[in-house]
Amino acid sequence: MRENLIQIAYIAAAVLFILGLKSMSSPRTARRGIIWAGVGMLVATAITFATPEMGNFVWMTLALIIGGAVAYVAARRVAMTDMPQMVAIYNGMGGGAAALIAAVEFMRPETMPTSFAVLGIIGALIGSVSFSGSMIAFAKLQGIIKKSFLFPGQNALNLLVLAGAVALAVVVALQHTGNMGGNESLTLIAFFVLSLLYGVLMTLPIGGADMPVVISLYNALTGLAVGLEGYVLGNGALIIAGIVVGAAGTLLTQMMAKAMNRSIGNVLFAGFGAKGGEELAGIEGTMKESSPDDAAVTLAFAQKVIIVPGYGMAVAQAQHKVWELAKLLGDRGIQVKFAIHPVAGRMPGHMNVLLAEAGVPYDMIYDLDEINGEFPTADAAIVIGANDVVNPAAREKGSPIYGMPILDVDKARQAFVIKRGRGAGFAGIENALFYEDNTRMVYGDAQDVAGKLIAGVKKV
Ligand code: NDP
Repeated sequence: MRENLIQIAYIAAAVLFILGLKSMSSPRTARRGIIWAGVGMLVATAITFATPEMGNFVWMTLALIIGGAVAYVAARRVAMTDMPQMVAIYNGMGGGAAALIAAVEFMRPETMPTSFAVLGIIGALIGSVSFSGSMIAFAKLQGIIKKSFLFPGQNALNLLVLAGAVALAVVVALQHTGNMGGNESLTLIAFFVLSLLYGVLMTLPIGGADMPVVISLYNALTGLAVGLEGYVLGNGALIIAGIVVGAAGTLLTQMMAKAMNRSIGNVLFAGFGAKGGEELAGIEGTMKESSPDDAAVTLAFAQKVIIVPGYGMAVAQAQHKVWELAKLLGDRGIQVKFAIHPVAGRMPGHMNVLLAEAGVPYDMIYDLDEINGEFPTADAAIVIGANDVVNPAAREKGSPIYGMPILDVDKARQAFVIKRGRGAGFAGIENALFYEDNTRMVYGDAQDVAGKLIAGVKKV
């Protein structure tokens, strides 16, 4: 009876995870999705206490209180722009937890059925890589590690370390199916050291601009590791949650790579963006500056304006002012649309979340495919803190971002680019848009400039 109740609770938790994830796919229902998934997690955690033979209740409660308190405070404090770091940490913890579950299972003296040993050790390998890799990703995004470490033969060394970890994994699995003797704990420790090392070595050479893709990949790996350990523990909720996270993370990784026109292999092994700033050859013209007042006059007399937000809008927290400006233009009978590039900002949906937070209605927000044809008919495009996602260099062969789909801002009659100075975008390359004849640079912090544009439009 008790066992049945536990299984029912786990299935209910799994259903809540799936429904939660489904709801997260639309900005309208995302908040509800988060709550459902959270309730699912609560049910799964609570029912664990009722599991037969479960002990250590004091430790479990203590871990829950400390972990819950740290997570609560961190989540409330974290800035939107730092969200990828936070995802990296939490995701890494998931991978680490899966690896620890495996470690505990393999430290038991009893032999295991072959399938348990094989799946358990694969989960341990993946979980360890995901843990140490995510920690490096966190350190890079947080600016703790500032350099990317590139040296000749790096991929070969990484492969060697991975091969060592896999070989030890085979030994550990065989020991636990009763086929081998030997010093089990030493082998297990060496296996974990090499697996963790591989995560570090694999992540160190990857450039900062690719970190969100890497984090998403580690997220998928964590899901897989959790699912595999769920199998070892015979826990249905863990299996389903792991598979759901693994599948969602895999799809997200593919979508991000596709939006940058890169393969996942290129992201992982090419050291892209790790070399630092690159000059764009053959760039002509000069950057021409405009004051916010002059820009405001053009905007006030436009019929159609497209606003393109990017990472800088998030840094400046300018979304509320930008929406105020859009409303003001709308009140003057001007058609205003927001154009969102799939990798604008630092995580998928970053701009959608910010604009939703400011109250921008969803029907004013357009994806790249929907809006690109409209730039030639726009009197003005306002680029607010975006750079790489509007860089026409992506159309030039030989450019590091060649092939990445971009928002065709350069095709608008007039483009205003709001940024603080001559800083490059995340990819570290010059932006040809800024030198175009029909582009005017409006220098300043995005929130500050948006405020000045509002004041300027009101004066017209
Ligand atoms: P970028 O990072 O290319 O450029 C942001 C620009 O904002 C900078 O040029 C900076 O210039 C400006 N800026 C910074 N702070 C402010 C501020 N306070 N006020 C005004 N401007 C500011 O941003 P994009 O959104 O165009 O591109 C995103 C990049 O991230 C792409 O390279 C994408 O591939 C990458 N990426 C995104 C992922 C995602 O999921 N969204 C995932 C992986 C990678 P200045 O310093 O002069 O102000």
